[in-house]
Amino acid sequence: MANIFETNIEYLKGVGPIRGELLQKELQIFNFGDLIQHYPFRYEDRSKIQNIRDLNEDLQFVQVRAKVIRATTIGAGKGKRFVVNVEDRTGTLELVWFQGIHFVEKKIKIGQEYLVFGKPNFFGRTFNVVHPELELWTDDKVLSGFLQPVYNITDKLRTHFVDSKSIFGMQKNLLDIVKKDIHETLPLYLKEKYRLVSKADALQWIHIPESAQQLKEATRRLKFEELFYVQLKLVSENRNHKTKYKGFIFNKLPLLQKFYGEFLPFDLTNAQKKVIKEIRADVTGGFQMNRLLQGDVGSGKTMVAFICMLMAIDSDTQACIMAPTEILAEQHFQGLSKYCEQLDIQLELLTGSTKVAKRRQIHEDLESGNLKIIVGTHALLEDKVKFKKLGMCVIDEQHRFGVAQRAKLWKKNDDIHPHVLVMTATPIPRTLAMTVYGDLDISVIDELPPGRKPISTSAKTDASRLVVFGFVREQIALGRQVYFVYPLIEESERQDLKDLMDGFEAITRYFKDEAIGILHGRMKAADKDFEMKRFVKGETKIMVATTVIEVGVNVPNASVMVIENAERFGLAQLHQLRGRVGRGADKSYCILMHKDRISKESKIRIQTMCDTTDGFKIADVDLQLRGPGELAGTKQSGVLDLLIANLAQDQEIIREARHCAQEIVDKDPEFNAPEHRNIKNHLSALKKTTTNWSRIS
Ligand code: ADP
Ligand code: MG
Repeated sequence: MANIFETNIEYLKGVGPIRGELLQKELQIFNFGDLIQHYPFRYEDRSKIQNIRDLNEDLQFVQVRAKVIRATTIGAGKGKRFVVNVEDRTGTLELVWFQGIHFVEKKIKIGQEYLVFGKPNFFGRTFNVVHPELELWTDDKVLSGFLQPVYNITDKLRTHFVDSKSIFGMQKNLLDIVKKDIHETLPLYLKEKYRLVSKADALQWIHIPESAQQLKEATRRLKFEELFYVQLKLVSENRNHKTKYKGFIFNKLPLLQKFYGEFLPFDLTNAQKKVIKEIRADVTGGFQMNRLLQGDVGSGKTMVAFICMLMAIDSDTQACIMAPTEILAEQHFQGLSKYCEQLDIQLELLTGSTKVAKRRQIHEDLESGNLKIIVGTHALLEDKVKFKKLGMCVIDEQHRFGVAQRAKLWKKNDDIHPHVLVMTATPIPRTLAMTVYGDLDISVIDELPPGRKPISTSAKTDASRLVVFGFVREQIALGRQVYFVYPLIEESERQDLKDLMDGFEAITRYFKDEAIGILHGRMKAADKDFEMKRFVKGETKIMVATTVIEVGVNVPNASVMVIENAERFGLAQLHQLRGRVGRGADKSYCILMHKDRISKESKIRIQTMCDTTDGFKIADVDLQLRGPGELAGTKQSGVLDLLIANLAQDQEIIREARHCAQEIVDKDPEFNAPEHRNIKNHLSALKKTTTNWSRIS
């Protein structure tokens, strides 16, 4: 059955073969369906005319009715421009063209009145408008367009006289013929429950809104639909995965009980207990676990990881924990050693620098199954590393590992995949997490262990450097240790390295009597290790470093973190860095040094850091500032190609859509119920367009 939305775009009234080809090439609009989904990205009020006198800097756009009093071509070659002076009863305005001069020159007539539309720029006391839209003014002109849609256009289209207005015209023509063929795509009960307008109205109103209310309703409806289908896909995939991959069943508890009864060093927080319960349900359920554990720095993820590993060992399988750096792997190794000794479990460490003989021994012991727990780095991923029966795999600090690496771990067993727990200390808002990590279940530790003293954070300009140094000296006298961190975003950037070395020298000069260490990415692994160990042992009081210390290092006695050029760091990074202090019993401080004049965004970042230590709040600000595409781990995810919804702004709708999708998939996974007929139809239509797409491109 032919579907009108698959009609080639060139057959639409007002398009034709030449424009049709342009639309395909420039905007990937191949057919009617593509055009109708080319939504406006903004709306302008074209129903009002302003007085030139009333223009001000805050106006995004202006529309004035003005008479041309002078037109001049100025300069030559590249600097050539065409300047037109216009006036209304209240003042004068300059219009400027750098391109298409020839065309405008011919069109403009002195003494003639025009309707001028564009973005005003402010210069001292006058305004100009570059490349405005012009329309001859006639007295019978009726101003409508209170919400004039603005469409994305490319330069190439513009030079072929296809502008936003032409697209608007095409949309009108299209809606005239297809409106009656627009089917509802949501179940009617959802539409009612959330008071959503019909799909047909939504499409009509998104392109041709007659009131702000209509536009609002249309936008909400289309966003909901888009997010609902994204979530439906994710939830279905997740369900398929869970019903497809069998998992080890961990139903014995001897070691875990012993550990709880005799050695648990502190009461678990409620958040830790809740997460352990969620994991327990997974590993006794018969299917493979793939779970993301989000928890702020210091929230106690390691203990959760250890308890998971005990569950695995209790049921005669092995467990591993993988960290992104050697320092971190070693830290986990040391941290877990104590517990393992208490329980009489052998524990080994495997990294790139493990000696050959030792490595061979470890390989053998893993393969024979004698070795139950291994801590390591990427070295664990090597094919040579074979397990007898790997039951639980913990990956720390997710953002450094890709999906491919996770898959490599799954395949360590021939038959049953190990359970996988991915831990991250870079919180991202839950709504984003459930979209970006759609294939993982998510647990959150949203509570810190008791007794933590909050970290006091302040911002200082470089002028206060001596005061800061003085404060640091006091803290060292109290027995504390201090980090100075420099930006080195690209480890190869010369200027950054120089700043670091200069800073190191200045600090050495000021703190003459203190032992000072330095750590940066260009140092050899052995040297880094040496410096880090000296600091951990307290032999050095000050560590001057780059962001290599960002991830996970634990030195409880370090209580001051000074971040240099804080304006250059992203929020996630600042938060991670600050997490390096506040791990011991002492009151901790984070001092953000910054230049006198910094950008508005940098100001917001620094202010946010001073205002809160809640990683989820910080992540949310980060999301608003940068958009979802820039957040850690989201880049590879295709789900970000949304037509109308916005993962940063539409969190409430995402939550609702997710909830609906989950309910439907739980109840009716194949969408066979009569009330889900619209879903089934829409999914099969979507499938069809996807195949068409791949054929075309
Ligand atoms: P992260 O989540 O950043 O990996 P860690 O697991 O390193 O945090 O824990 C930070 C510190 O808090 C460790 O010293 C750990 O022993 C301690 N800790 C963890 N859980 C608790 C708890 N329930 N009560 C008290 N201290 C805890
Ligand atoms: Mg950790």
